[in-house]
Amino acid sequence: MTTRTAPIQSRNPATEEVLATFEPFTNEQVDDALDGAEDAFRVWRERSFAERAVPMRRLGALLRERVDRYARLITLEMGKPIAEARAEIEKCASTCEFYAEHAAEFLRDEPAPSGAKRSYVAFEPLGIVLAVMPWNYPFWQVVRFAAPALMAGDAAVLKHASNVPQCALAIEEAVRDAGFPDGLFRTLLLAGAAVEPVIADDRVRAVTLTGSSATGARIAELAGRALKKCVLELGGSDPFIVLADADVEAAAAVATRARNQNAGQSCIAAKRFLVEDGVRADFERRFAAKVAALRVGDPLDPETQIGPLARADLRETLERQVAGSLAMGARLLTGGTRRGGTGYFYEPTVVADVTPEMPVFREETFGPVAAIASVGDADEAVAYANDSPYGLGGNLWTRDEERGQRLARRIETGQVFINGMTASDPRLPFGGVKRSGYGRELSHFGIREFVNIQTIWIGPAVSAQPRKAAGE
Ligand code: NAP
Repeated sequence: MTTRTAPIQSRNPATEEVLATFEPFTNEQVDDALDGAEDAFRVWRERSFAERAVPMRRLGALLRERVDRYARLITLEMGKPIAEARAEIEKCASTCEFYAEHAAEFLRDEPAPSGAKRSYVAFEPLGIVLAVMPWNYPFWQVVRFAAPALMAGDAAVLKHASNVPQCALAIEEAVRDAGFPDGLFRTLLLAGAAVEPVIADDRVRAVTLTGSSATGARIAELAGRALKKCVLELGGSDPFIVLADADVEAAAAVATRARNQNAGQSCIAAKRFLVEDGVRADFERRFAAKVAALRVGDPLDPETQIGPLARADLRETLERQVAGSLAMGARLLTGGTRRGGTGYFYEPTVVADVTPEMPVFREETFGPVAAIASVGDADEAVAYANDSPYGLGGNLWTRDEERGQRLARRIETGQVFINGMTASDPRLPFGGVKRSGYGRELSHFGIREFVNIQTIWIGPAVSAQPRKAAGE
């Protein structure tokens, strides 16, 4: 079914050392995993929400118990500072608890009066969901889809990014140890396009991808051909608007975190800073000073704020984007170079005088590079914010919250945070528009993506039934 590819390597991006090598799954292994997930699904779908909540709560507890080991694995495989890796595990644990607690309420039968004796909507599981996931939040991205999907009664197979195979196996281990039915959640060790035939497999009922827009287009094409639903959480180039009446110091402090967490490798990192003329110089000075003071270094050191980029090619892309923008007239405020020695380190960077045709504005910058463009007023800020192929998240800073809300609704993104940093939260829907994808994760919206929204109609109530159109 799948094409066998080169071994999958786990490599420490801080030292460039190979940590482990895995053979990709054979066709037979993929087949067995799908058969096992299907068998487990038949058992699991019959369980009540209360019964499903037991292993889900246990999973949350296990993640907390194993935080040292799992956080270290994240840091070793993809370079995230250890303090952020620990926070990622904690967020996964609380999201397991959130869905254990709320799934029954989110998927409760919904009355739908229609003239029948009784009619209502039920939310039934679909079956196996295939998840193709990225490396940047290697535990969180998986838990974010898996906790609601498993609570809804689905099964899951995970094709994780090739650079985090140990995290992928650790997640499978945690789910197994939590007491879910054997085989309900499986990791498939496959690289890139080798997962494509799995999308068409009849046992797979739906697909979810978190990744780049290019991969999103490919997966949507394959899912479309197989007539399967997919959810796409793709790239972003989030605007961070600072209006003239904003608290500039607070905005600069949050901007520093919003751009540089996870070494800037976040889909919802603030990437384009659109600053009203009156406060531009003040914002540039404060922001650049804070960015220059960030501690770059060994990601295993709890004091480190910026680790390496996860892969060598990601650093090369950033270098091209920064060099191209400087050549077009951007002004370098800080950074702009790689750090010598081993590891894929890149200095946190701020460039100003950015215009919409420059690569740091047009393209997604997946690393610690902030692009500042000045805008004449709030209308121009909104126009610049929307002048992007992406539509994931956005930030807006103003002391006038009423005006902020009116402006936010004109920004074409899946979420806008006013006077705060964009972040995912299990209580809030998460997702994008335009080339940032479609569908939603988290909250009650997320758990309803991979269910059969089923109408149940109970008669007899013939007289109350709408008259059928001819030919129906
Ligand atoms: P990517 O290349 O699209 O990889 C994401 C996943 O897709 C990986 O598992 C990758 O496998 C797989 N893949 C690649 N080519 C494929 C193909 N032809 N068929 C099926 N699967 C394929 O993304 P990336 O550059 O590593 O990750 C960063 C991107 O993800 C950024 O654009 C970022 O903004 C986006 N992202 C979005 C969100 C969100 O919630 N919206 C969150 C995080 C990241 P291999 O690793 O084996 O190639």
